[in-house]
Amino acid sequence: MDGETKHPEPFDILRNRRLTHPRVKLPAGSDRAVVELPPPIYDAGAARFVEFHREAIQTSISKLRRGRDTAPKSPAPAPPPKPAAAFPPLPPVIELPAVKETWKVILDDEAALRGSVRALLPDQRALTLTFAGPSWDPRVALRTLRKFLQTRAQHYLLPLVDELEQRCDLAAGTITVRAQRTRWGSCSAKGNLSLNLTLLLLPHRLVEYVVLHELCHTVELNHADAFWDLLQKHLPDALDRRKELRAAEQQLPSWVASMLIA
Ligand SMILES: [Zn+2]
Repeated sequence: MDGETKHPEPFDILRNRRLTHPRVKLPAGSDRAVVELPPPIYDAGAARFVEFHREAIQTSISKLRRGRDTAPKSPAPAPPPKPAAAFPPLPPVIELPAVKETWKVILDDEAALRGSVRALLPDQRALTLTFAGPSWDPRVALRTLRKFLQTRAQHYLLPLVDELEQRCDLAAGTITVRAQRTRWGSCSAKGNLSLNLTLLLLPHRLVEYVVLHELCHTVELNHADAFWDLLQKHLPDALDRRKELRAAEQQLPSWVASMLIA
């Protein structure tokens, strides 16, 4: 030691080999927060990581502290420990049943690209999404993920719409792929289709139902009997698939909602 003192961090930094994502904890009975890092990040330079993400870390700590302050202080049995704040809210793996793909999410603190996704294609065995550098910021990461899924959805949905148009002799106007929070798809009075990129998270047979449902709206705008007759003419088990779709909606992974636009 040369006597030069570093400004002490208001938290401890630990290497945790069980983690895939960094996390911030406020251990029970302690006022000092702990930032836990997975080995690849810790080894690549914990101090640099902390420096870069100081703001996000402070926000997480404040949130944990607030949670503790508002907890009841009665002598009643202690509440179960709060789960550690996870950030960023990216899943380690993204399953896309519609296209039968599993994407591994890789967080690469070394890379310098801002908010970029590097998708390694077409090696179907090693589909990886690399979130580089500053995309650790949850907002950047979610925006980047949304962009990736939008592109992937376009490549999947546009040919599917074509195929169903031809098979059923229906014709839509423009096709837009969006990230809306509320609906799988819609059809405008002019016959323009809007489809949700989260369709990628459904089995293909349900996506077929959604697309065909919207295509039938180019002929029958409302949900009167004529609409259901037309839909069932092209898709005899449409009502079964509709039920399956309602059930599938309840099974979506939790990160989906935070990615969508209200
Ligand atoms: Zn409808």
